[in-house]
Amino acid sequence: MVYKCAHCKQTVEIDKDLQGIRCPFCGHRILVKERPTNIKRVPAQ
Ligand SMILES: [Zn+2]
Repeated sequence: MVYKCAHCKQTVEIDKDLQGIRCPFCGHRILVKERPTNIKRVPAQ
C-alpha cells in the first residue's frame, strides 16, 4: 500500500502488518493513503 506522509509529503510504501505505520523519512506517524491519480485513460474504441 502506498501512503503519503502528512508531514513531509514523501511517498512511502508500507506493509502496515509488518512494520506499522511510520514515515521512514521524518518519523511522523500520520500517513494518508495515496490515491491513484495517474491512471492512464485509454480511449475506448
Ligand atoms: Zn515524513
